Amino acid sequence: MREVTLEHPAREKWGEGLVSVAQGEPVVIEARLESVHEGILVTGTAETEYTGICGRCLIDVAETLQVEIQELFAYPGEETSDFEVQDDHVDLETLVRDAIVLSLPFQPVCQPDCPGLDPVTGERLAESAAEEQREPLDSRWAALQDFTPDEDSAK
Ligand SMILES: [Zn+2]
Repeated sequence: MREVTLEHPAREKWGEGLVSVAQGEPVVIEARLESVHEGILVTGTAETEYTGICGRCLIDVAETLQVEIQELFAYPGEETSDFEVQDDHVDLETLVRDAIVLSLPFQPVCQPDCPGLDPVTGERLAESAAEEQREPLDSRWAALQDFTPDEDSAK
């Protein structure tokens, strides 16, 4: 049994949806290779970062993604398999790529409760809501802000 930690850049862009793993993005693989009767059993995790846009408000998103991987790489035999031991090596690329691509969110969001875009102005609602909070109170209410009961002067 061997445990390995590898870091490889993605050889190409992974994923075709709103988010994808960019070409050259580092992919960290921690795997345990076990020699079993039929071949080599690979279990572990792969971690990388995907980038793209929020499916609701279209802002850029970037998130870390970690996936579990497990596959038995069979020794070459009569049955052809997608995963075979070749020249005493196992090629983890297809395994890792498929696991990551399948885990990419189909509807990525910049935040779990992203309110999306304003249907009228097309602006990001998350941003305009934050701006409204920062704005001073409506001027019609500003006068009331100064109006605080002053017990001392009432005497
Ligand atoms: Zn969003």
